[in-house]
Order: sequence, then structure tokens, then C-alpha cells
Amino acid sequence: MSILSKTILSPTSGFIAEAGFTHSLTPARNCTFGCTYCYVPTMGIYGGLKPEDWRHWGQFTTFKTNAPELLRRQLRANQVIYCSPLVDPYQPAEESQKLMPNILHELMAHPPRICVIQTRGPLIVRDLEPLLELSRRTTLRVSFSLTTNREAVRKLYEPHCATLDCRLKAIHILRQAGITTFATLAPLLPCDPEELAGIALDETDNDIIGDALHVRSIKPRGATTREAAFRISQKHGFAEWLDAEFQAEVVERIGRVVRHAGRRFATGPEGFRWLAQ
Ligand code: SF4
Repeated sequence: MSILSKTILSPTSGFIAEAGFTHSLTPARNCTFGCTYCYVPTMGIYGGLKPEDWRHWGQFTTFKTNAPELLRRQLRANQVIYCSPLVDPYQPAEESQKLMPNILHELMAHPPRICVIQTRGPLIVRDLEPLLELSRRTTLRVSFSLTTNREAVRKLYEPHCATLDCRLKAIHILRQAGITTFATLAPLLPCDPEELAGIALDETDNDIIGDALHVRSIKPRGATTREAAFRISQKHGFAEWLDAEFQAEVVERIGRVVRHAGRRFATGPEGFRWLAQ
């Protein structure tokens, strides 16, 4: 589906603003990766989402087909842009929609100060050429989500996402081409923390960013992990991964491995700030 949107860049608030981003760029409403833990549909109506989006999360998407024209008018040289806190720009439906190449073209023509693309979609390598061109004109960073080192866990929580191997291959291609690429361990699904940290260290040469699954005990208000992921965790014996103390221990274990390798590891806005600086 497609719509003509009124706006494409939104001034940031909350987590992303705290990290230092001035604007978010969201090319679609709803995300066909449909991850079971996705916090976006728990926000209610936000960022142009409609009730049918968050009630049927992942089942369809609606592209903002006039995004390039809107960008032409709204882009400014001092913006620090995060694409996107509400959808994956390289979600499966983008393969046929092909909106991102046109968006990248506008970013090239009117480069913001910093542009970060957050994705878990290997489809991003399709756009290697425009990404490279954009990286010559501004600071471009790709933040690639790695959530677990265990394929069986990945299939449970994010069945429509690419395998770990496919994601690592995409990171490798981006990095070989010279695109600054971060591994973002977010959200941290059940995994072997040391092994996941080792993979992130091997595949990238930047500091490592992470974030635990959002839980109400440490995040009393706002968006949180959605019900489907809680059910999966209970059913498969992973309930402790939603316990704040257990999560803190996992974060500490990853941090220890990363620091031992001479790099930094941080979660939340502290980690995401490394993308926005
Ligand atoms: S890729 Fe991101 S935005 Fe899309 S469903 Fe998964 S967590 Fe949500």
C-alpha cells in the first residue's frame, strides 16, 4: 500500500532525542518484519501510525511514496537523522517498493550533518552504490541489528527476519565497501552473551551498542516489548531474559568481553549517542 504523507522528517523526542538525533526519517507505516517483541505497536498512535497498524503489526505496510519530494523541502544541513525508530527501512516489502534508493538520492542532494540507517535487513546491500555516494557527502553510519547468536531463538522471536549468517554477510559487504557499520545488539534475545559479543567484535571495528528487551519493571511508562514475545519467553523457558537483574548480568558479561578487546559497550541512549556524534 502507499499514501501521500504530509511530512517525512519528525523532530525527535525521548530515547532518540536523548541520544542526540534531531530528526527521525520514517519511510513507511508498519513493518513487515513483524518482530514479536517490537515495541512500536505498543506506543498507540504515534509518528503517523494508525490504529490498524498497531493492531495488525507486521501484516502489511504503507509506504510514504512522496517521501523524496518531502525530503527535498525538509532536509537541512544541521540535521542529525535516525532512519528509523518506527520501521525498518529495509523491511521485506521494500524489495519491491524500492523507495529507499530515491530517499538516498535526496539525502545525497541535500546532505544532513549525520545520517544513521538502522536495519536488520540484508536488502540494504542492494543500495551499496547510493550509500557509498552518500557516505562521501556526509557522515553516514549503518547500525545493523544482531539480536542473538542462536538461530533457533531468532526463528522463535523474529521468524520473518534474516538469519544471523545473512546479516553477518551484509555487514561484511558494507564494511568491505567502506561504509561505517556498527553492530547493535538490540534487543538482546536469549543468547550466549560471550559468543554474541565475539561475533560483533569480529565483524565490525566500532564500539558495540546494545539494549535489553524493554520490561515494565525498569521502564514504567511508554513503549515496551509486546505481548507475543512475553508468551514465547514463557513457553520456551526464557522468562529470566525479561528479568531486569538477569538482563543487567547479560549486559555486564557482554561489556566485559568488549572492554577486554579494547572497545566500548553501552546500552540505551549512551550507546546510541555514538551513532549521533
Ligand atoms: S524490524 Fe524493527 S520496526 Fe520492524 S518489526 Fe522488527 S523491531 Fe519492529
